[in-house]
Amino acid sequence: MSGVSLQFPITPNTDSHLSAINWDNLPFGKIFSDHMFVMEYADGAWQQGEILPFGPIAMHPAMSAIHYGQSIFEGMKAYRNDHNEVVLFRPELNARRFSESAARMCMPEIPEELFLAAVKQLVAQDAGWVTNKPGYALYIRPFMFATDEFVGIKPSDTYKFVIITSPVGAYYAEPVRVKIEEHYTRAAVGGVGRAKAAGNYGASLYPAKQAQQEGFHQLVWTDAKTHTFIEESGTMNIMFVINNTLITPSEDADTILRGTTKRTVLEVAASLGIPIEERPVTVAEIIEAAKNGTLQDVFGAGTAATIAPIAIIGYRDEKLTLPALETREISLKIKDFLDNIKSGAQPDTQHWIQKVC
Ligand SMILES: *Cc1c(COP(=O)(O)O)cnc(C)c1O
Repeated sequence: MSGVSLQFPITPNTDSHLSAINWDNLPFGKIFSDHMFVMEYADGAWQQGEILPFGPIAMHPAMSAIHYGQSIFEGMKAYRNDHNEVVLFRPELNARRFSESAARMCMPEIPEELFLAAVKQLVAQDAGWVTNKPGYALYIRPFMFATDEFVGIKPSDTYKFVIITSPVGAYYAEPVRVKIEEHYTRAAVGGVGRAKAAGNYGASLYPAKQAQQEGFHQLVWTDAKTHTFIEESGTMNIMFVINNTLITPSEDADTILRGTTKRTVLEVAASLGIPIEERPVTVAEIIEAAKNGTLQDVFGAGTAATIAPIAIIGYRDEKLTLPALETREISLKIKDFLDNIKSGAQPDTQHWIQKVC
């Protein structure tokens, strides 16, 4: 990193389309802000990054990422709070996880301060894209891919790190219907499930599509070996409330993505005095709890949706309907707590907020 400045040169976009955005009808992830951050890795080091007008990136047909999948990403959000400041929520956790994903995929790590400086300067440049409309945010997508022009399997020597941003509203418009998957697998022990590696998501599309044809939004993934333990739901961590205890699969296995939202939900729950259990969770105990009425709540936790209430769980030939949303006191309380920290209504005593501008 020697010689690399954390004050990145900017080529301004002279053709902003911000004024053309219809904020009342914003498709998720299809509209992008005016600028992007681009930085290349070559000769064993990160080169000077820069902020450029958003636009296409030229690609060599032999570029190794598209052949062999060395490609990772992150997902985070910038919010505009009640004090008209643009803020990030625990971005250092994303920076760290990005480097962990990189290490697993034989890609170069990015120093935390470089990652954070790039995110902050890009978001500051496009601060006008961060609205204070409730439920809205600027979704931030940092990603890295291998760029060697070489059709041969080996870790690439060159990479591109790019950050794009996209204004978004709510992720799921309705409570989520999920199906417990007992055949296909998202991640196996020893695999890359803990990394935010692009291929994990490509591999999930086929089984997710089968479930969508049966009327579900997403799958609940189970362990690859026995399909008796619950792991995650779609691209969210999954959390349950049984008898007023918040329960979520432990992440010791390398098959579960270590979500910042889930971590935060657990920390908030602990501070509110809610009993928590992070441990292996069986399909059988969840089905039993749903049937005997002790399952009070099930929700997904992830940056895109924050807390996504799950309404229906499909299991084999059954469809189990979960309690009405307004009865889900624990997740409602935690969501309020988080919304209030992000909006500035509640003091950030945990130092989770980093101000951009
Ligand atoms: C990104 C992701 C999550 C959620 O992580 P957050 O840091 O909370 O956004 C959970 N599971 C998978 C598989 C993911 O890709």
